[in-house]
Amino acid sequence: MRGAAFRAVAVAVALGVALVVALPVDARDGGGAPTTAPPPCTYGDVVVAGDLHDDHATVMLDTTFRLTSDAAPRDLVPVSAAGFDSTHLVRAVVIDDLRALRLAAEAAGHALAVQSAYRSFDYQRQVHAGWVAALGEERARRVSARPGHSEHQLGTAVDLRDALGPAPWDLDDWAATPAGAWTAAHAHHFGFVMSYPAGSEHVTCYDYEPWHYRWLGRALAERVHESGLPLRGWLHARGPAEPAP
Ligand SMILES: [Zn+2]
Repeated sequence: MRGAAFRAVAVAVALGVALVVALPVDARDGGGAPTTAPPPCTYGDVVVAGDLHDDHATVMLDTTFRLTSDAAPRDLVPVSAAGFDSTHLVRAVVIDDLRALRLAAEAAGHALAVQSAYRSFDYQRQVHAGWVAALGEERARRVSARPGHSEHQLGTAVDLRDALGPAPWDLDDWAATPAGAWTAAHAHHFGFVMSYPAGSEHVTCYDYEPWHYRWLGRALAERVHESGLPLRGWLHARGPAEPAP
C-alpha cells in the first residue's frame, strides 16, 4: 500500500457488511492447480481469525477481512537491523530474510531501499484518509487499504524502491526498472511475495503494486509463487482447513 504521509483528515467511511460468497469451480485445470475462484471484491469489516504472530503468513487481509485496531506485533525492530538506512519497522522474524534479499540484490547490482514497512491501525487510518481526500473514496479503496485491512499492520509487509530512485508509486511500473525487475524475479527465494501483481486486480481487489511485498517465509513463498496465484487467490484456494506449513 502506498504510504505517503498525509495530513490526517477525518473521514466517515460508510462500511457495508460483506458476504463471503462461494463461487462455482472456475476454468483452471491441470497439475493440482487450485479449482475455486476467490470471492468478489466486496467491502466489509470482518475481523480475521488467527494469531497475528503465529499465523501471520496465512492471515488473509483484504477488502473484507481486517485486524482489530489494537492488533500490533510485539517484536518490531528497525529495518536498519537488515542493513537498510531507515527507521521503518518490521517484525524481528523478517530481518534475516530481508537482509539476505538486500545483499542478493546488491550482489546483482541493485541497491534496494525500504519505502515503508509497519503501519499501525491509526497511521493507516491517516494514510487512507489522505488518499480519500486526494482521489475520492472509490479510487482510494483501489490504491490504499482501509485501517485494519492493510498487510502493513502485520509488520511483515514492506514497500521497496531503488535506493537512488523516487518513491516507487511515482514510476509507471517499478517492476520494469532493473531493481524492481530483479526483485520481482527473486524475492520469493527470500520469503517475500508481491501481494498485488499486475493482471490480478480482480483477485487482489487492489491496483497493481510492484513495490509491495509480504514476507511469508521461504517455504510458503515458494509454494505461492509456484502456484501462479496472487496471495489472496492462493489463500482462498487453500481453504481454512489445511494447517499452516
Ligand atoms: Zn505496501
